[in-house]
Amino acid sequence: MRTHFEQIAVEEVRALIALMDDGPTLEQIEVVPCPTCGAKPGEKCKLINGESRMDPHHNRRRTAEDLLSS
Ligand SMILES: [Zn+2]
Repeated sequence: MRTHFEQIAVEEVRALIALMDDGPTLEQIEVVPCPTCGAKPGEKCKLINGESRMDPHHNRRRTAEDLLSS
């Protein structure tokens, strides 16, 4: 069971991670739908041929960043 103090620390670390130059994690990016390829939350971005992309589309990353910074 987590103490109250530990819970705060976890949230501070999350906030710091969100501020890092690397931007949101893949996990965070994938909770938003992709405006480029239409991938739903929890799905990976797709190539034109329907295969999964290794990296999420730039616009999806930007959307996730906007959500994290708001
Ligand atoms: Zn995409």
